[in-house]
Amino acid sequence: MDDRTAGAGTHSGQAMRKYLLTALVCMSALYAYAQERSVAITIDDVPNVHLYAADGNSSGLLKRLDSLNLPVAIFINEGHLKQNTAFELNKKLLESWISRPYITAGNHSYSHPNYGEIGFDAFRDEVLKGEELTRKMTEKAGKKLSYFRFPFNGMGKDSAEQVRMTQFLTEHHYVSTPFTVESEDWLYTQLYEKALKEGKKEEAQAIGNRYVEHSLRLFGYFEGVISKSIGKSVRQIYLCHDNRLNTDYLPVLVQKLKEQNYKFISLADALSDPAYSLPLYYYGNFGFSWVYRWMKDVDKRRSLMRAEPVDMETQNAYEALTKGKK
Ligand SMILES: [Zn+2]
Repeated sequence: MDDRTAGAGTHSGQAMRKYLLTALVCMSALYAYAQERSVAITIDDVPNVHLYAADGNSSGLLKRLDSLNLPVAIFINEGHLKQNTAFELNKKLLESWISRPYITAGNHSYSHPNYGEIGFDAFRDEVLKGEELTRKMTEKAGKKLSYFRFPFNGMGKDSAEQVRMTQFLTEHHYVSTPFTVESEDWLYTQLYEKALKEGKKEEAQAIGNRYVEHSLRLFGYFEGVISKSIGKSVRQIYLCHDNRLNTDYLPVLVQKLKEQNYKFISLADALSDPAYSLPLYYYGNFGFSWVYRWMKDVDKRRSLMRAEPVDMETQNAYEALTKGKK
């Protein structure tokens, strides 16, 4: 009897230890999951033919991406090929982007208009005109052309326009591509290029560093908003552009994100996150993050938008620059 009791006691002790161990393993797995962050890099307004010409028919950004070894999605404006007289060379540039194995090519319309401003018919023509060469080049590279991104992320002036164009895109086997984080790189690059042009190397460096810091702050901010509003992490989609700033500083941003445990994933992988099937509650021309579009409560959305980190130094410098140009 005593033996049996003792045996049972030992047995239940073992069971308890096993239970505790399992619980510990589960908890650490959950913790690891909570810490797991991922992001797809997307680059809009490709190709930058001015930069290509200025750099002796070479794309510095493409070269840097070659060495980064991560998946990238690009959104193309074919109209860019005619922004200078080097059409044939520009076509080669576009082809070299599309042929890279790590690159997913997408359509970003022909000449980058705001859908809400030009209406359905004109915008539909922009979609079709914007895929003529790209479709041939993607097929030649053994790829599919499956993604579209609205210029300015403006999906139409109201819900009817949004539904109509989304339907058109679906019929043409396009996925409308969202984003979660962007950091106004288009603004930083103007200040950056001006500083470089004036030979102010240190100032240019400071602008580049501010871009990286501000982007990281925004990643942190949106992770926080997402965990509060959705309750779990979401696969991020970062939006930036083909410009001089990213040629020099996207690799820095990528390194910093790696240090924060971000994993770099393809656009398709990011979009497989169920968050991207959530309903959208915003209809209109503004191009803000999908994190805000998933919010039903308009007041909450607005107050969060007001709380978004701002880099005032850069905003003020940009305002001074554009005033000077007028
Ligand atoms: Zn764009």
